[in-house]
Amino acid sequence: MKILVINAGSSSLKYQLINMETEEVIAKGGCERIGIEGGKLTHKAHGETYVVERDLPTHTDAISLVLEKLVDKEAGVISSMDEIDAVGHRVVASGEAFTETTLVDERAMELMDEIKDLAPLHNPAAILGVNACRAVMPGKKMALVFDTSFHQTMPDYAKLYAIDYDDYLKYKVRRYGAHGTSHKYVAGEAAKYLGRDLSELKIVTCHLGNGSSISAVKGGVCIDTSMGFTPLAGVPMGTRSGDIDVAAIDYLCEKKGMTMEQGLAYLNKKCGVLGVSGVSSDFRDLVAAKDAGNDRARLALDMFSYSCKKYLGAYMAALGGLDAIVFTAGIGENTSVVRRDILAGLEAFGIALDEEKNAAKNDGSIHDISAKHSRVKILVIPTNEELVIARETAALL
Ligand code: ADP
Repeated sequence: MKILVINAGSSSLKYQLINMETEEVIAKGGCERIGIEGGKLTHKAHGETYVVERDLPTHTDAISLVLEKLVDKEAGVISSMDEIDAVGHRVVASGEAFTETTLVDERAMELMDEIKDLAPLHNPAAILGVNACRAVMPGKKMALVFDTSFHQTMPDYAKLYAIDYDDYLKYKVRRYGAHGTSHKYVAGEAAKYLGRDLSELKIVTCHLGNGSSISAVKGGVCIDTSMGFTPLAGVPMGTRSGDIDVAAIDYLCEKKGMTMEQGLAYLNKKCGVLGVSGVSSDFRDLVAAKDAGNDRARLALDMFSYSCKKYLGAYMAALGGLDAIVFTAGIGENTSVVRRDILAGLEAFGIALDEEKNAAKNDGSIHDISAKHSRVKILVIPTNEELVIARETAALL
C-alpha cells in the first residue's frame, strides 16, 4: 500500500509518498510560492533532487505538478496515480468537530469549513490542499489527520479553562493542544525502544522546535499538554510568547496603541526568544550569541529551559510518577545545552543525564542519554509526523 501525505500551507505544499509495507519514504518534496510569482517544486527521489521552476497560481496547479513528477519517466517513482492507495492530509486544528482521523466526504468538508477560524493561518490552507487533490484525483480515498486528535483524551479538568461553563459549551473555547502526531509517534517509539508496553508507561514528551509543546502521556494516552486553544500557549517559543497573563496584553495594547488583532500578531511573531534576546528566533544563533557573551541571549535560553522544567515537574505530578522523558524536533533533537539545562538539578526525582552522551551529535537515530543510575530514561527520538499521518490514513482504509 502507498499513501501520499500532504501538508498544505497558505503558499506551500509539502508531500511524502510512503510505502506502508516498509514504512519507507519513496519520494518527498515541496512546492513553494503558490499563488505568488516564482513558484518552485523540489522533488527528492532515487537519492536525487529535482527542481522545477514554474508559476503555481493555485494549490491545484501545485498538486498537479507533484503528481506529474511522481509519475515522471526520470524523477518518478510510480507508473500511474492508481498506485496511490489513499491521501492523508495534515490538519492543524479540529476543534470539537472531529475527535479522530476522518475520511474526506461532503459532510467532513462542511465541518472543516465551519472550524476554519480556529487556525486561520493553517486550516483554510488544508481545505485548499484537500480540494486540489479531489480535483486532480477524483474518487481517491482521502483522510483528514488532525494535530489535535492525540490530545482529545485529556480529562475535562485538564482541558477546560476556568471560564463560564456555558461559554465553553457555546463557543468550545478550551485547551486543544498541537503537535499531536509528533507526541504520539515519539511516545510509541519510546516504548518500542525500551521494550516495554506503552500501556504501562508514564512519559513526558517534549516537542521543542520553532513551536514547542510538552505533553504528559499515561499508558499511551495524552492527559495534558502545554499548548492551549491555539499554539500560542505554553513555553516561550521562537517568536511566540507562550503563557502570559491576558491582562498584560490589554495593558500593552493600550500603551503601544495596538488593536487586539495587532496585539495577538505581536505575541505570535515578535515575542518568545526572539523578543527577549533581540538576536534571533533560531536556537543555533542564540547559543552562539550566549557563548559570545550576549546576556539577553542567555536570558532567553534560561527562560525557555526554566519554563520547560516547570512543565516537566507539573506533568510528573499529573502522571503520578515518570518512566521516561523524550526530546524531539529541531531543538529537542539537536540542542544539547537546552536539554542539559532543562534537566539540571532534577536528580532528586531520579532524573540524571549522561553529559557525554547528551553532548554527542544527533545522527538521526534514537539515543538514550540517561546516566546509568537514572531511574527515569531520557531519550532523544527523531520525530516523524508524516509517518503517523500515513499510518492513520492506512488504518482508516
Ligand atoms: P518547526 O517547528 O519549524 O518544524 P524545527 O523542529 O525544525 O521547527 O526546529 C527548529 C529549531 O531547532 C530552531 O530553533 C533551530 O535553531 C533548532 N536547531 C538546533 N540545531 C538544529 C539542527 N542541527 N537542525 C535543525 N534545527 C536545529
